Amino acid sequence: MRLSQYPINTLKETPAEAEVLSHQLMLRSGLIRRLAAGLYSWLPMGLRTLQKVERIIREEMNRAGALELVMPVIQPAELWQESRRWSEYGPELLRIKDRHQRDFVAGPTHEEVITDIARRDLKSYRQLPVNFYQIQTKFRDEVRPRFGVMRAREFIMKDAYSFHVDEASLREGYRAMYDAYTRIFTRTGLTFRAVRADSGAIGGDVSQEFHVLAASGEDAIAFSDGDDYAANLEAAAALPPSEPRRAPQQPLNKVATPGARTIEELARFLKIEPARCVKTLIVEGTEDTVVALVVRGDHELNAVKAQKLPGVANPLRMASAERVVKATGTEPGYVGLVGLRCRVYADHSAFALADFVCGANEKDMHLTGVNWDRDVTGAVAADIRNALEGDPSPSGRGHLKIARGIEVGHIFQLGRKYSEPMKAVVLDEAGHEVPLYMGCYGIGVTRIVAAAIEQNHDERGIIWPEPIAPFQVVLVALQLQKSTRVREVAERLYAELAAAGIEVLYDDRDARPGVKFADAELLGIPHRLVVAERGLDAGKLEYRHRRDAQSTEFPADDALAFIRSRFAP
Ligand code: ATP
Ligand code: MG
Repeated sequence: MRLSQYPINTLKETPAEAEVLSHQLMLRSGLIRRLAAGLYSWLPMGLRTLQKVERIIREEMNRAGALELVMPVIQPAELWQESRRWSEYGPELLRIKDRHQRDFVAGPTHEEVITDIARRDLKSYRQLPVNFYQIQTKFRDEVRPRFGVMRAREFIMKDAYSFHVDEASLREGYRAMYDAYTRIFTRTGLTFRAVRADSGAIGGDVSQEFHVLAASGEDAIAFSDGDDYAANLEAAAALPPSEPRRAPQQPLNKVATPGARTIEELARFLKIEPARCVKTLIVEGTEDTVVALVVRGDHELNAVKAQKLPGVANPLRMASAERVVKATGTEPGYVGLVGLRCRVYADHSAFALADFVCGANEKDMHLTGVNWDRDVTGAVAADIRNALEGDPSPSGRGHLKIARGIEVGHIFQLGRKYSEPMKAVVLDEAGHEVPLYMGCYGIGVTRIVAAAIEQNHDERGIIWPEPIAPFQVVLVALQLQKSTRVREVAERLYAELAAAGIEVLYDDRDARPGVKFADAELLGIPHRLVVAERGLDAGKLEYRHRRDAQSTEFPADDALAFIRSRFAP
């Protein structure tokens, strides 16, 4: 492609609305343009990368034996009512009406539609196992669309769904997808990690996420330094302390703590460690009740773990100030445990404390020397905190380290979550009707492009991993409007590389060298060739890889062989 005929300009200034680097670079280099919140157009340069990602995914899905299809974006509400997600999914589900006032949704995912296909077309175990996939637009009305295509409202997903007659076959199909995903992310040239995950709104029991490791990632992932245990922090178990709780030594005592509202203020005032205090959070219960969740002062509540506990509303919601006052007699910030009349879950680490400090259910007062059983009865111990760096690994070997990641893929063993309510059954070998076992497997296709940039950039721009770069080579001709020699050599080179099937971006613009170099670096094309008068005097061209600090010269008549020798094998 000739840059002189490409109408999209790069931007020097960083667009104000872009908070993260990948978003800034995608806008500046003209890969995408914003239409509205969470809605983006892919411009030609961006689309080239997107299609390379799609090609890798398609090849590996096909290799794994999955069958490609395409399902409608717009789906009838009836299917979502059958699966009960019409009421369960919440405001991320965009609901729309047609001209006859019939309800539809803009598909955030396609379990219902594929299960409808399965129940119509799959009749016998002989047709199984089977895996259908599509690469298609999804809509999720995200609360906070942000970071460009990383968390958009409309985005492209590769979603696959497998059907099986029994659980053993499901496990096999899931394993095959795990392997396919490993090949896909390896082939894109990204550094990634597979981690255990929570299943979220999709449901099911076993699930794993694939994360691109990047310091700016939205997710925290915990992994052991002693073995291959790795989990999303949401799902990483925090083990109970190994030592038993010691016996109470202090009497219960009420102390005035004027102005101390946070744990830090309280700990400083009492001259104790935050780890000797507990935080009591009042959340909504499932019925017309509230529930108290207790974690140590130096720990963080894990909402995903807490909302799974019996009696706790899912998704987790803090109780309103009014309901806190009604349940505890005090406003949020002073809530304590002694005399509290509601269900209490204490994190294992909080439950292991003796002689600790908590609120007194009274403004500006706290209790010291508090002890479980003696002063607070009926609390249930549970794992409700985030694991921390240095915690023993739940695998029993090593300690946890925490890294940041961007979720680019998620695989689930759904079991019969959709086939049962939607009555998708087949005849098994014995001739009995059995509900299908199902797996589902997603990849954030558009998100991969942003994640690749988060992981691969420097202060000058993008550094594309070679397999997904929009072009392999950028050919920069300097002062070609002044030098016919430069123009001739560059034109010849462009034709020769193109004829050899190499994807070349040819900078034949009438622009200053500085502008051309800056754009080449911003665009992040891996291999750069420079044609300039000075080099040609000595019969030389200049080469530099986007990751190199220095250029090298090589004989001009040897360009094709030279550039080929620079490509990754
Ligand atoms: P997240 O926790 O990031 O919201 P999710 O768990 O809701 O993701 P899945 O339902 O598993 O996502 O969807 C499959 C994949 O689609 C995700 O792994 C992610 O890569 C991608 N994805 C999900 N939501 C978005 C979004 N709003 N914008 C871009 N990609 C997305
Ligand atoms: Mg989501």
